[in-house]
Amino acid sequence: MIAKKALGLPLKGLRFAIKSGDTFVKNASTQITRFKTRFDEKKVQMALDEQPTAKRNYTNASEQTDVLTKEQSIDMREFEFTKAPINWIPATFLVTTPIAAVIITPWYLFTHDVSAPVWGVFGVFMVWTGISITAGYHRLLAHRAYKAHPIVKNFLLLGSTLAVQGSAFDWVSGHRVHHRHVDDVMDDPYSAKRGFWFSHIGWMLRNYPSGNFDYKNIPDLTKDKVLQVQHKYYGLWVLATNVGLVAAIGWLLGDVWGTLVLAGLLRLVLTHHFTFFINSLCHMLGNRPYTDTNTARDNFFLAIFTWGEGYHNYHHFFQYDYRNGVKWWQYDPTKWLIAGLSKIGLASDLRTVDDTTIKHAEVQMQFKAAQQQIDTATNSGIDLPHAMKSFQDRIKFEYDAFTQTVAEWQALKAKTIELKKTEFADRLHEADDKLKHDYAKIEQKILEHNNNLKNAFRSIGISKKAA
Ligand SMILES: [Zn+2]
Ligand SMILES: [Zn+2]
Repeated sequence: MIAKKALGLPLKGLRFAIKSGDTFVKNASTQITRFKTRFDEKKVQMALDEQPTAKRNYTNASEQTDVLTKEQSIDMREFEFTKAPINWIPATFLVTTPIAAVIITPWYLFTHDVSAPVWGVFGVFMVWTGISITAGYHRLLAHRAYKAHPIVKNFLLLGSTLAVQGSAFDWVSGHRVHHRHVDDVMDDPYSAKRGFWFSHIGWMLRNYPSGNFDYKNIPDLTKDKVLQVQHKYYGLWVLATNVGLVAAIGWLLGDVWGTLVLAGLLRLVLTHHFTFFINSLCHMLGNRPYTDTNTARDNFFLAIFTWGEGYHNYHHFFQYDYRNGVKWWQYDPTKWLIAGLSKIGLASDLRTVDDTTIKHAEVQMQFKAAQQQIDTATNSGIDLPHAMKSFQDRIKFEYDAFTQTVAEWQALKAKTIELKKTEFADRLHEADDKLKHDYAKIEQKILEHNNNLKNAFRSIGISKKAA
């Protein structure tokens, strides 16, 4: 009876906390909605006041949209950005946790002895949390780059919850919008074109229009029962993992506070900012070997902090590949983990881009770089030096040959599709060896183009890495 009472009390307290937590969140969101509605009305009124023509002639919003010019519409959206209200709950959390970590961690380490097992738990939690975001939220859920056994999926989901980066619904929905509208200042939720601060953390501090996700782009996730539970009780899961689980491990190790400070607070803040680097620095520092159509960069140093996600240029060009560091030697522990899990049957259907397509993208970028060299030299106003003239000729020759190879490759792909449609399975099997041989020849040719380009660059004193 006493035991029942003793157990009953904390449970009652927990239920109350859950209930009041829910009420608090509901009240807060109602207040925010009310505030937002009032704010929106005021904002539209102010915008209309600044545009008397639109106000005078049109009374409802849909008609206004027809009449407002594109520039006015952009101005209105920019106006919404500058006046976006503060996102109080995430803002408070994201501002107070780093301040607390910077003050409490050194103080705690100076005044207390921390045992090796507590440091060990800090390390394990760093890896678990960080890699859960990259292998779980990112490559598994956002890009469907592989399939995971439920044990792996749930383990990564728990680690991602520990990371406190929003529910899977929010994270994935936002990330898919990021890929779809990368760099768009209006629609990319963490557009690097709005600068370091915005793309790193600023986008979460205010309720920006680009940060409102309607989950229409995650139909594959919204029907998942486990993810629904995580989304519905997200706050509770965050508390249960970051406080409950961490404190329980601390209790087992005989140092609850030490574990909470290191494996709880410090780990959380470091993981936050390491992940945020992917949205900020990985769109600013590094090179672009695969595409220059967006700001995403490949950066080895950032790959170290981001569990392999530093190869962000590749990722933005070939987003469904389970690898971000696609070369075998590139540091991508997330890819090694996924490949390792597949070896023991806990992951399957690993999606990859074929080598020829990857090399083709690299060679295309080499040609672009060559053209830039030629343009710079041509625009300098002085007569082109002999080396540059012959470089120009070599590039032109090589480009014609490359175009021919690409045409052969396209024809081969069309032939493959046609064969698959018309041939019976046994005939297709026979044709397979020949196709493989033809594809290998194309790959070899693209490699040769790359080597020829590399030599051409060397002739003008520029060293380019082989693709
Ligand atoms: Zn990105
Ligand atoms: Zn991605």
